[in-house]
Amino acid sequence: MAKLIDGKLISAQIRAELKEETKAFIAATGVTPKLTVILVGEDPASQVYVRNKGRACEEVGFAAEQITLPATTTQEELDALIDRLNADKTVHGILVQLPLPKGLSEERVLLRISPEKDVDAFHPYNVGRMVAGQITYLPCTPAGVMELIKRSGISVAGKDCVVIGRSNIVGKPMAHLLMQANGTVTVCHSRTKELAEHTRRADILVAAIGKADFVTADMVKPGAVVIDVGINRNAEGKLTGDVDFASVEPIASYITPVPGGVGPMTIAMLMKNTLTAAKRAVEGEI
Ligand code: NDP
Repeated sequence: MAKLIDGKLISAQIRAELKEETKAFIAATGVTPKLTVILVGEDPASQVYVRNKGRACEEVGFAAEQITLPATTTQEELDALIDRLNADKTVHGILVQLPLPKGLSEERVLLRISPEKDVDAFHPYNVGRMVAGQITYLPCTPAGVMELIKRSGISVAGKDCVVIGRSNIVGKPMAHLLMQANGTVTVCHSRTKELAEHTRRADILVAAIGKADFVTADMVKPGAVVIDVGINRNAEGKLTGDVDFASVEPIASYITPVPGGVGPMTIAMLMKNTLTAAKRAVEGEI
């Protein structure tokens, strides 16, 4: 039976650490870290994500601002808002909640946010720095996975790591971070042939596919560490990951549940990036 990696607990520990760090930072500098989240339109899932980010900010002692714009907002209006926030010295992190309504360019928005305030780490400048190992801000979900691995006492060095998924926000940066931790990394995707032959070699298997219960026991090496990034709804409407937990849990050495695994880590890492942004602003590194 696998040991459960409790993302809820670990993320709470990280938020508690950040709260202490924030208190000390405010006492020393008089500056309160501030995250501004822009929500365009009324997507219900996005509303929940934005609300949770605001709550997390309050918990760690940041100032949180939410700017809600109608779905009819033009690209020029959104650009102008981002420009204003880029110039506002009291704002340390800017996040535009994705996806954007039709007609607005995500690519243009991500390029517009100043790299110094890009706490999601999606700007190509920060992506480039991450790939080069000159890390400023880490992409939140893969960084959260690395924290889960580290805080569970699992070493990556020399291990065969297989990532299923190659998206810009999860799969690709995940592979880079595992490589930087000295793992030997294979990235699989929808065009991979004989997927199970790759996954069965993994000492550390990360699933970021977006397909409920896709990874089954026959795809997993006994004793593997299995990290499930997926968030899906199954036929009964229940939240489920990309890993078939019931069949994989008995053979893995460690496994993350869904919910309560990787999910809570993403926001904790966003808070970490926001504090880093505030520190960098104060230290005049930007
Ligand atoms: P994307 O849809 O952008 O990427 C999915 C990836 O899975 C693609 O690279 C795709 O390959 C690959 N894939 C799809 N089908 C198969 C298949 N049959 N065999 C092998 N590979 C396949 O998703 P994201 O990366 O954005 O998200 C992945 C999952 O993680 C989703 O469930 C999402 O909800 C969740 N997520 C969770 C977060 C959290 O905080 N826990 C944060 C972000 C995402 P190809 O490139 O060839 O199309």
